[in-house]
Amino acid sequence: MPQPLSFVHPTPHSPWGTYLAQVDRVVPYLGHLARWVETLKRPKRALIVDIPIEMDDGRIEHFEGYRVQHNMSRGPGKGGVRYHPDVTLEEVMALSAWMSIKNAAVNLPYGGAKGGIRVDPKQLTHKELERMTRRYTSEIGLIIGPQQDIPAPDVNTNPQIMAWMMDTYSMNVGATATGVVTGKPIHLGGSLGRVKATGRGVFVTGREAARRLGLDLDGARVAVQGFGNVGSSAAELFGQAGSKLVAVQDHSGTIFNGDGLDIAALTQHVRQSGGVAGFSGAEVMAAEDFWDVDCDILVPAALEGQITVARALRLKARIVLEGANGPTLPDADDTLAERGVLVVPDVICNAGGVTVSYFEWVQDFSSFFWTEDEINVRLDKIMIGALKRIWDTADRHGITLRTATFAVACERILMAREERGLYP
Ligand code: NAD
Repeated sequence: MPQPLSFVHPTPHSPWGTYLAQVDRVVPYLGHLARWVETLKRPKRALIVDIPIEMDDGRIEHFEGYRVQHNMSRGPGKGGVRYHPDVTLEEVMALSAWMSIKNAAVNLPYGGAKGGIRVDPKQLTHKELERMTRRYTSEIGLIIGPQQDIPAPDVNTNPQIMAWMMDTYSMNVGATATGVVTGKPIHLGGSLGRVKATGRGVFVTGREAARRLGLDLDGARVAVQGFGNVGSSAAELFGQAGSKLVAVQDHSGTIFNGDGLDIAALTQHVRQSGGVAGFSGAEVMAAEDFWDVDCDILVPAALEGQITVARALRLKARIVLEGANGPTLPDADDTLAERGVLVVPDVICNAGGVTVSYFEWVQDFSSFFWTEDEINVRLDKIMIGALKRIWDTADRHGITLRTATFAVACERILMAREERGLYP
């Protein structure tokens, strides 16, 4: 029996526990590669860093930061950086592992990594945020780099933060290294289409799922949890396809309009006020009632662990599009499957962001930049092709799309592991 890791204590509902349960489910489909599966149950490398910062008022504050490289059998690490007060090593480990699966599922030449800082960035001034980001980047500079591990934005991080990370790394190595992070501002080697890429991938996989179920997107009712980068971009595209955005929940509140919310006006409101609360074109709803909303498509695009068994029993949606990472607990996944609700899992549904990050990295290396149309055409092609392969696997074995995505991805990762062999 392999020894369990000493530095995390996962439970069935914790992020790492959820991930381990997902890996266990795929073992029967791995054939001879199953003997390598323990590789997936531990991160290759996990770095914990102290980030001391001088605050604007002269106090010294310390923040805890992480960078976890889960698996690098197929290429350099790739995955975002999250700033949130609830970030833990265990959460970052799970997020890094889901990146390994996601990158392999869409066949990008990357392993999986993720980073984070335990901080509420809304409590920091612009200058404090910059100092914290720069110190964090210097500390994890030991293990990141354009050929080693390439961070990107996640919850509460954005192109400005990526610009500071790129600049800090570049100062430390003495050369401008645009390829060290993705999700940068356009004029610093960023890619057109990156900001909306994750939401676009959610929409494209959702459109494919709807087509297979015979659900017309024109007039379909959509509910979205989280109206940040992913949720708002996906909502916009569903709106363009004629769907009605009937409910939105974010950290500030829950709003409903059975005739469809005005997406452009809501986006503007959120940009100005920071949340959906106070939007005039909607009724306010109790947070828990969000899970009872009459809708065809539900897009969880906020945080993990949102769909519990109790909520899964109440959902009206026919399709759940996991924009967020890890929004559905494993037992709730079973409940949804039993109820015939189709779940397009995070590890394929939200892979649009990392796919365009890959395009950004390639463009930075070649110093030749593509048009937004070229980006979107290539993105759609990769997402549709990957989903088809996953769907075929699901049909062949009679398994859910999540287990099928893990099967496709784990086979690719473990095949690479086997072909490379163990060092020394
Ligand atoms: P964001 O910071 O832009 O938005 C997060 C949204 O979640 C905000 O609307 C916020 O109000 C909401 N939220 C926070 N706490 C909440 C709570 N307790 N209840 C309801 N809503 C809450 O982040 P994002 O980039 O849109 O990421 C959202 C999710 O998508 C995360 O799980 C992230 O890991 C995942 N994801 C993001 C990308 C990307 O490219 N940005 C790629 C893949 C996956």
